[in-house]
Amino acid sequence: MSDQVFVSTHPLVRDKVTRLRNANTQPKEFRELVADLARLMFVEASADLRLSPKNVSTPLAESSGHVVAERIGLFPILRAGLGMADAILQLIPSAQVWHLGLFRDHVSLEPVEYYNKLPSELPLDLAVVLDPMLATGGSASVVVEILMKRRVPRIKFVGLIAAPEGVKKLREEFPSVPLYLAALDSHLNEKGYIVPGLGDAGDRQFAT
Ligand code: URA
Repeated sequence: MSDQVFVSTHPLVRDKVTRLRNANTQPKEFRELVADLARLMFVEASADLRLSPKNVSTPLAESSGHVVAERIGLFPILRAGLGMADAILQLIPSAQVWHLGLFRDHVSLEPVEYYNKLPSELPLDLAVVLDPMLATGGSASVVVEILMKRRVPRIKFVGLIAAPEGVKKLREEFPSVPLYLAALDSHLNEKGYIVPGLGDAGDRQFAT
């Protein structure tokens, strides 16, 4: 696997992915697992964030520290990416959140854009595309294309479960975009679901 594709082997991630996959996991726990996993994966994806020096006074002395110096945008793909964005905002509350609505046509499996209010300029240093499921890669590819057209200098994808088909598509189309994944599964079935996967990530989060 390319060094631009990071698949976590962290024990906490593996434990939580297993519970997430379980068909008996109910929506409340499912949402909590999505949130925990999103934060764990974002920690990996943000390891190279630029810092600037900042001195603070503790109750005891002066301390020289650092603060994040990058303007970060989170781009959850509606609707399954919503739970990931909320969770990551707790780690980096200053991040901008821009929602992008795409659904997969059930017949063609091609992405159809239905919500995009992005301005033509995005004053960001880093855009993080969030979708728990990287299946065909169609939606993620459309979003990365949208961000590239707006000249965002660095783009990363953070997902939870991916199919090899989606990874291949993003690697081929956008070799500069690193992928951070909690698990890489076997294949897509004829309906475009990741196998073994977890089913529909939106339905399972929102009890629909
Ligand atoms: N989207 C999902 O929610 N699940 C899949 O398996 C594939 C795409």
